[in-house]
Amino acid sequence: MSDISFAELGLDPAVLEAVTEVGYEKPSPIQAQAIPALLAGNHLLGVAQTGTGKTAAFALPLLSRIDASSREPQLLVLAPTRELAIQVAEAFTTYASKFRHFHVLPIYGGQDFQPQIRGLKRGAQVIVGTPGRMLDHLRKGTLKLNNLKALVLDEADEMLRMGFIDDVEAILAKTPDDCQRALFSATMPPQIKKVAQTYLQNATEVKIESATRTVERIAQFVLPVYAERKLDALTRILEIEPFDASIIFVRTKAETTLLAEKLSARGHAVAPLNGDLNQRQREQTVEDLKRGKKDIIIATDVAARGLDVPRITHVINYDVPYDTEAYIHRVGRTGRAGRTGKAILLVTPRERSWLRTLERATNSPMQGYELPSPKELLEMREQQFETQLLAFSDDKKLAKAIALLDDIAERNDMDMAMVAGALACWMEAAQPGSLPLEQPEALPVVSNKPPRRDSKGGRPGGDRRKGGFKKGGPKGQGRDGGRGKSVGKGGKPAGKRPPRKA
Ligand code: AMP
Repeated sequence: MSDISFAELGLDPAVLEAVTEVGYEKPSPIQAQAIPALLAGNHLLGVAQTGTGKTAAFALPLLSRIDASSREPQLLVLAPTRELAIQVAEAFTTYASKFRHFHVLPIYGGQDFQPQIRGLKRGAQVIVGTPGRMLDHLRKGTLKLNNLKALVLDEADEMLRMGFIDDVEAILAKTPDDCQRALFSATMPPQIKKVAQTYLQNATEVKIESATRTVERIAQFVLPVYAERKLDALTRILEIEPFDASIIFVRTKAETTLLAEKLSARGHAVAPLNGDLNQRQREQTVEDLKRGKKDIIIATDVAARGLDVPRITHVINYDVPYDTEAYIHRVGRTGRAGRTGKAILLVTPRERSWLRTLERATNSPMQGYELPSPKELLEMREQQFETQLLAFSDDKKLAKAIALLDDIAERNDMDMAMVAGALACWMEAAQPGSLPLEQPEALPVVSNKPPRRDSKGGRPGGDRRKGGFKKGGPKGQGRDGGRGKSVGKGGKPAGKRPPRKA
């Protein structure tokens, strides 16, 4: 992470207010480099992929430069797919939420022309769309670029791969000469370089450097999961992993508290660690983790800087980091003082390209993390229940308890099995999830394979119905024997385990 704050970047006050409200703590590295350059009116060439914060890197400064009182299109963003166009348009809506009169219009193929034409007539300062449809509107005269101030090509290499490069060039040729231009691309194939040389002369270049460092003593795992199932996946990981203490990384301050509340409701001893806490509160949280008063900390990168707690056995990357540097710092919070550690990364389908980058940066492969199947999970829970029950079989109060229950059984003509069953149901009513009665739900499977391209312009990973996704049961999911066996026997006494909810 950079040391500069958003407040120091010179953004429009309304944009800064919106960013503060979203809860971003610090600019990501690409933002720290790109924002000043774009605010200064320079062209920008950014080598960055999804997950680095590149959308805000162009949206925040360019929004700061538009005239919100005029409804003319001033900023045009070209994106390879409908999904990305919508996502970028939503990001603009968020970052412009403090503007009085702001309109962003997503425009993409496959949708009727009429609503788009009506939207264009009503006026919008920012238009985000796929190249083909954008060009259609330019040719029809329904979109005019006379007052365009800036143009962004997002995921340019993707547009090239999908065969849109001619359309992109045709649009570029129609933009005013003095229009500011930014091009973002994860890679720089020759055709993209050529576009940059022609249309982005003297551009400021920003790049996320890949720090390469060997991550020793840390076993790295990756679990592909749909964004909306991340919490379920995390709950299961925490259930089956025999962790001593664990640190979970998220992106925003708001998410640290939100996730801490959710895990706390699931019975974990958890605390958030973020930049809103004062120095004393932060120290207290770290002290609680060291002393075992808390077992889990939910942190942002900034707040966890330099954190050194030897009992951290697990680092869970709930949200992907911005760059490899941040990843290496995160996983380095475990494996301290010569111990071994485990790092688990949750990736959504769109973020899978991160894997190769991270493997290269850490010089080590990521292993696929496999959650147990529902049947296996139920068996584990039964086994744990049995272990917990047996732990009370020589309890000091056992004789008195038996005498009491014997009396009840005799008076009510029950045998002891019925009494025990009723007691177990009582326990379940008091603490839902403590009795392993039902097989848990299967989490939808996301393929770990690299994204597949399809011919219709759909972007794998952008649309859950296309390319590389499987929905349904836990087929092919197996439990790795070592981990499965260690459940209930690991660093955590089974009796302390919280009830389950996922
Ligand atoms: P992108 O690389 O633009 O797809 O952004 C990835 C994610 O990072 C999005 O969910 C953003 O909301 C989030 N994000 C972008 N910038 C920041 C920041 N400075 N702090 C925290 N989250 C951010």
